[in-house]
Amino acid sequence: MDCIFCKIVNKEIPAYILYEDAYSIAFLDINPSNKGHSLFIPKKHFERLSEMDNEYIRNFYGGFNKFLRLFEDRISKDYNIIANNGKKAGQAIFHAHIHIIPQYEDDGYKK
Ligand code: 5GP
Ligand code: ZN
Repeated sequence: MDCIFCKIVNKEIPAYILYEDAYSIAFLDINPSNKGHSLFIPKKHFERLSEMDNEYIRNFYGGFNKFLRLFEDRISKDYNIIANNGKKAGQAIFHAHIHIIPQYEDDGYKK
C-alpha cells in the first residue's frame, strides 16, 4: 500500500520520532504549524480513528496519554489536539492520526 505514514512506521522514510511503542508512533510534522507540532498515529493502517478495533483503542489511547506527558515535559505544557477525519474535514493523509500542536504564547489559536 502506498501510504506515507506506513512508510514512516516501517522506517522506509525518515521522520523525527518522539515516541514509539508496539501500537503507536509519534513524530514531528514535516510542515509544522508551530515548533514541535507532532503527529500521533497507530502503527496499523486504519483510515480514520473510528475504524480502530477494541484492542487498538485501548493500547493506542494508553500510549497517547503517555506521549502527552512526554510532550508536556519536553515540548510544551499548552497545546491543541486536532484530528481530521475525512476529506471534507481536511484529512490529507488517509492513515489515522492526531495532531498535537504546541502553543507558546497567548497569541490565539493557530491551526
Ligand atoms: P491531515 O491534513 O491529513 O490531518 O494532516 C497530515 C499532516 O501530515 C500534515 O500536517 C502534513 O504536514 C504531515 N505530513 C505529510 N507528509 C509527511 C511526511 O512525509 N512526514 C511528516 N513528518 N509529516 C508529513
Ligand atoms: Zn498507512
